[in-house]
Amino acid sequence: MNPLIKVLLVEDNPGDARLLREALAEMADARFELTHVERLSEALRRLDEERFDIILLDLSLPDAKGLDTVVWVQGQVSHLPIVVLTGLENEELAAEALRRGAQDYLVKGKVDGNLLIRSIRYAIERKRAEDQIQKNLRRLRALREIERATISTLDLRTVLDVLLQKIDLLLPYSATTVRLYNKTTGLLEPIACRNVEEDEWKAEPWKGGRGVPNVVFESKTVWIAKNVQTDPRVRDPDFFKRHGLVSYLGLPLIAKNEILGVLSFYTKQEHSFSDEEVEFLSTLADQAAVAIQNSQFYEQVRASRDAMEQANKIKEEFLSVMSHELRTPLNAILGYTEMVKDGLQGPVNSEQEKSLEKVVLRTRELLTMINGILQVTSMEALRLKAQGYPFNLNEFLDDLRSGYEFPSDKDVTLHWEYPADLPVLESDPEKLKHILQNLINNAIKFTQRGRVTVSARSLADLRHVEFQVADTGIGIPREMMPIIFEKFRQVDSSETRSYGGVGLGLYIVKQFTAGLGGRIEVESAVGGGSTFTVTIPQMVGVKQPSNGSSVSV
Ligand code: ADP
Repeated sequence: MNPLIKVLLVEDNPGDARLLREALAEMADARFELTHVERLSEALRRLDEERFDIILLDLSLPDAKGLDTVVWVQGQVSHLPIVVLTGLENEELAAEALRRGAQDYLVKGKVDGNLLIRSIRYAIERKRAEDQIQKNLRRLRALREIERATISTLDLRTVLDVLLQKIDLLLPYSATTVRLYNKTTGLLEPIACRNVEEDEWKAEPWKGGRGVPNVVFESKTVWIAKNVQTDPRVRDPDFFKRHGLVSYLGLPLIAKNEILGVLSFYTKQEHSFSDEEVEFLSTLADQAAVAIQNSQFYEQVRASRDAMEQANKIKEEFLSVMSHELRTPLNAILGYTEMVKDGLQGPVNSEQEKSLEKVVLRTRELLTMINGILQVTSMEALRLKAQGYPFNLNEFLDDLRSGYEFPSDKDVTLHWEYPADLPVLESDPEKLKHILQNLINNAIKFTQRGRVTVSARSLADLRHVEFQVADTGIGIPREMMPIIFEKFRQVDSSETRSYGGVGLGLYIVKQFTAGLGGRIEVESAVGGGSTFTVTIPQMVGVKQPSNGSSVSV
């Protein structure tokens, strides 16, 4: 049997009203209940008291005329379909009423039973479809808002706050809770809630895994209970009874196949969650799960970064303390050995002197290494920024050169090439000296025979100077070029390598060069020698030029 349709007819003309009533009565198989009123005010009062399925509305009533009539009715009952009744001369107005939200119009005097029923049914269906579209639009908008809000932050608390706040706007009838699985404790912990007494909710004896959400968590599927207070599957109904929570919908929060927790909805009145509602809330849960997972990932990354930073700090402190402690006894060893070697404590024969010389040499190497480590750790701790002051570059290079005027035990000659009119720099000479000494010492160390050339020139822009240290030594494989500037990295790091050193020199050089606002580049060929080029601004703080033909760091 067709369902009963309750019609409110608002018509002040008794003749028209009678015709409509008769037209409806003709249709034997349709079930209508018609209520007739003559004024809009009365109609609004009836609508307030009673539920109708449709309203047939005349547009010229004693207390309302034209489109306002439609607007008033809609203002009071937005869900109600409206069929407008007009005279022949008023079809324009009726068309406008459709644009304002009425579902259909009928021209009075031209209505038979079939037409009327068809119009009523059509209006009801059309209104239902329109409402559905509106509802879907609202939901889509809400999903988009939730998405936008949750991707704008990675903080879990904020993500959940936004989520619950939006749900509250969308489903004002519900209380919502979020539980998340804690991998460490193995428990589904209460994290956030809305419209539930939070302290009590969190204090509930949930730890035994007795809550309804555990069922959702374990089954990883949607779970619905019409009444959690009486459902035999619910083991702890007291909490729900105390808080008047009745129907339940639990959704698993799953992202990338991993179950993260459970999103729960409770209603205060018995509520049947429709398929459509479940589908919408599932979409929402999926979206929330992605946001939750992202923020959890972020938390993990942050925690491990903090842990790494902490470990680094400890390592640096350890290295710093250790180097310091090692330096003192080494200096003592060096002092005493030199005293013995120089015969200050009695004569030593030439054999003994040679051995002692080796001890002194190795101890010095060890000291250099330890000083390097100390320098790196203090450099990293302080993140040193260079302090510049003016000095004459020619005098600086002359001075540096004089430090190398000693006979070498290798077949390597050292050449200096720089013009006499180099500019005055405003930079840090101590750092520059360290940089060049390191490069020169490396060049000598890694060259068995041939030459090492140190050169300097002022660049065409007159704002930068360039230094080059070129050797004819063993060269560096291309793939190792960027690596040699890293801490403790060497081309040959084997136990049996033929060159001393710890691999800190170039790291310090790179840091110091950067500190001077400059850059360092290397060109090299295995067996064909290496050229290190350092470019620094004449005044600290001026940006370095960019030219990217060779490997630069
Ligand atoms: P160390 O010299 O103490 O090993 P460095 O940081 O100064 O450490 O250099 C790192 C590595 O780069 C060296 O071990 C070596 O393999 C390579 N290297 C540096 N300079 C040269 C050079 N002039 N010729 C060949 N290899 C070099």
